[in-house]
Amino acid sequence: VRMADLGPIAEEVGALALVDHHVHPVLGREVTSGEFERLITESDRPVPAGTSQFDSQLGVAVRRWCGPVLGLEPSAPAGEYLARRADLGPAETARLLIAASGVDRLLVDTGYPRDGLLTLDGMRQLTGGRADEIVRLEQVAEGLAHSGQVSAATFAESFRAALWQRTERARGVKSIVAYRHGFAFDPSPPAPAEVTTAAGQWLRAIETTGDARLRHVVLLRYLLWTGVERGLPVQLHTGFGDPDVDLRLANPLLLRGFLERTGPRGVPVMLLHCYPYHREAGYLAQAYPHVHFDLGLAINYLGARATAVVAESLELAPFAKVLYSSDAFALPELVYLGALLWRRATARVLGEWVTSGEWSHADAVRTAGLIGSGNAMRVYKLS
Ligand SMILES: [Zn+2]
Repeated sequence: VRMADLGPIAEEVGALALVDHHVHPVLGREVTSGEFERLITESDRPVPAGTSQFDSQLGVAVRRWCGPVLGLEPSAPAGEYLARRADLGPAETARLLIAASGVDRLLVDTGYPRDGLLTLDGMRQLTGGRADEIVRLEQVAEGLAHSGQVSAATFAESFRAALWQRTERARGVKSIVAYRHGFAFDPSPPAPAEVTTAAGQWLRAIETTGDARLRHVVLLRYLLWTGVERGLPVQLHTGFGDPDVDLRLANPLLLRGFLERTGPRGVPVMLLHCYPYHREAGYLAQAYPHVHFDLGLAINYLGARATAVVAESLELAPFAKVLYSSDAFALPELVYLGALLWRRATARVLGEWVTSGEWSHADAVRTAGLIGSGNAMRVYKLS
């Protein structure tokens, strides 16, 4: 990735082969312009009449940076961008953007399957086999409930067996307890009798309502602790997301009790997104040896302002605990932009410290490499 004029480490940061440790599948089908606008906001409400989601940091960044990858002038109008995208078709658009991202490895959260999203195999084909899986705990439990093969008495054991089977080749597990309950929960593992009672309540509710969405906090705690026992890195959604999350309750500081209890297990805890609590995450990463975090989602949504947040993520946090991710979902633009905006921000932030004489050039390049790929390689044991 060429990044002229971005300071003394621009070339090295541009050349990094990144690991994107939290990314979702992209769409394998066409998107309408209305759909595209809905995919560049985290709101799940209609775009207000008379406005466009392209009038945002992310919208401006799409036109500025993705346009040229698809053969347009920088900042070509949104209409031209969407027309060009439609001409190329979904497969070629994705191929061009992902190739231009310089991302070498993707850890794909497959736990939110939506119509038209590529499967893990589809993502592998798109990336030349460089995609691995992260398994969502809640999805495994909900699948089990749907199968009808489980009772209150067998739930705990069946979930455990299903998780071990589903994660045979996975690189990590993920919890969305932030969405389903928030972090104000009893941080200890629930007792077996509590799990049986809760599973009975949940399974009966599914029978009457047909809705298998798991919100029972006892079961959410059981899933999370079983995820810890599995021994793979445990990703947790924290901070910014769609309005389904109560942002006040997604503050990672609320996880203190859970982090105190999981520390001795030595299982890495990966706090995802974090914004606007990235400074809190930096504190937790310093306080607890097993805590790591990223700025996924935020970097894309902050666009030209991502530089400020990348700088803030490098205050308290030890540099071996900060990871790169895009949190791209559905649009391959978000895979490309996440990588590009992270490179631009990182080159500027670290480069400025080199220029002012506070950091050596070698330290800046080495730190960018840790965040861009080295930390993910170590924590997820990627070869
Ligand atoms: Zn995500």
